[in-house]
Amino acid sequence: MKLLVTGGAGYVGSVNAAHLVEAGHEVVVLDDLSTGHADAVPEGARFVQGELSEAAGPLLAEGFDGVLHFAAKSLVGESVAKPELYWNGNVVATFRLLEAIREHGTPRLVFSSTAACYGEPEEVPIREDAPTRPTNPYGAGKLAIDTMITSYANAHGLAAVSLRYFNVAGAHGRFGERHAVETHLIPIVLQVASGSRESVAMYGDDWPTPDGTCVRDYIHVDDLAEAHQLALQKAEPSTHAIYNLGSGTGYSVQQVVEACRAITGHAIPAAVAPRRAGDPAVLIASAERAADQLGWKPSRSLQDMVGDAWRFTRERAQA
Ligand code: UDP
Repeated sequence: MKLLVTGGAGYVGSVNAAHLVEAGHEVVVLDDLSTGHADAVPEGARFVQGELSEAAGPLLAEGFDGVLHFAAKSLVGESVAKPELYWNGNVVATFRLLEAIREHGTPRLVFSSTAACYGEPEEVPIREDAPTRPTNPYGAGKLAIDTMITSYANAHGLAAVSLRYFNVAGAHGRFGERHAVETHLIPIVLQVASGSRESVAMYGDDWPTPDGTCVRDYIHVDDLAEAHQLALQKAEPSTHAIYNLGSGTGYSVQQVVEACRAITGHAIPAAVAPRRAGDPAVLIASAERAADQLGWKPSRSLQDMVGDAWRFTRERAQA
């Protein structure tokens, strides 16, 4: 298939672009490099540097079989402080992308959605029919986009899939997490192991969880990429399917720090810090719908995620 990958110079986008090239697809990456890296675009993909709102239309006029839409701003705290960046950069830009898809008759869309659509859960594991009550503009914007996509599938025949990621981690070869502002737990813990940070702040140890630290559902970026390929194959016209992507198993912050200690052999000092505003105690996906309908089962463990992220961190430090 000829595929447009927006945000293909970022973390999840570049890993997906690499998988798609490896699977033999013709891949065009569109990225404005606001947070991505030109050298993260895989060999074999064509790279177009440009704004989503401006560049997607002229590109789609060439004729594409599908779009995988990763380009987004993704810092929850920033979305609270500067919501305008998120309504414009995520929601307005994606509306323009949908209009270009409609105008040029692009048949398929796979969208990078998020567990943040659900907000504080009433029940875990979280199913796709759980209430959607996002607690910040980042999640609210992603949910607004999911709502737009449903309406385009219904009205204009688009074959669409939204994948709601839980906590993505790990690396694929030379493709991994290289955020200028790092907020995610595993890369932060590995920065301590590699000597670029003194210690880890664990945000709260008085949560209602077995060890008092927050529990999350971590998913390897390679498992995630496999789900995108299945979504692309199984997308049906006039249908918007929504799947949670998680393993169905949770690990606490303490367990993640311990896994990182075991894999790196580094003591990794960790200190308890105040709770971070907006963090739910436990987020775990129900992975049943993706298993039943996509035939997707994640196969990589927390140790695989930490091991691959650690290899990636060390290789970048040596480069
Ligand atoms: N966390 C932490 N210290 C950090 C970064 C994150 O204790 O320096 C915790 C955070 O409170 C959450 C978990 O690690 O419970 C995962 O956070 P992350 O930001 O990686 O992902 P999120 O679940 O917020 O999407």
